[in-house]
Amino acid sequence: MEDVILPDENAQVRFGEALGEALQGQGLVYLEGDLGAGKTTLTRGVLRAYGHTGAVKSPTYTLVEPYQLARVTLYHFDLYRLGDPEELEFMGARDLLGEGNVSLVEWPGRGEGWLPLPDLWLHLGVMAPGRRVSMVAYSEHGKLTLQQLTENLAYVYGPTKVSHGTS
Ligand code: ADP
Ligand code: MG
Repeated sequence: MEDVILPDENAQVRFGEALGEALQGQGLVYLEGDLGAGKTTLTRGVLRAYGHTGAVKSPTYTLVEPYQLARVTLYHFDLYRLGDPEELEFMGARDLLGEGNVSLVEWPGRGEGWLPLPDLWLHLGVMAPGRRVSMVAYSEHGKLTLQQLTENLAYVYGPTKVSHGTS
């Protein structure tokens, strides 16, 4: 599987924006990667695709931050401090991951055993000075999103730079 290389923070935001457009207001996306890999920055771009231009704070202690936007409700999870995957049940996460909204989850590994398979699983890594993103689709919606994302990114980076894998 080939990856997308994002040379700076601006590219990371634009990638997120292209992803947000490709998702078309629906989908569960996992953002895997170490501290500083660019997960929250990418989330800022997805939010921008749906019209949110303000700040994006990491919901490190609240675990989830909701955004009610014109076209979509987006839930931004950061599970870094999740103690036990079962806590997701108690906090009502099942309803938030359902149809008709977008959910982005940082540190999905913390919810392993409770979290369902996502539409898209993104793996982010530091490739100083930039970042690398690999993407795997686990659903029909995820595969369509990757196709659309590849088209969206072709406008930004040219037609040959992006390819992706599917499960
Ligand atoms: P995470 O949420 O994965 O911990 P952040 O999104 O908070 O990471 O980003 C950490 C730092 O990396 C920020 O200073 C951000 O500006 C920077 N950054 C994000 N994406 C890139 C990139 N593609 N290239 C260079 N720096 C980046
Ligand atoms: Mg973060």
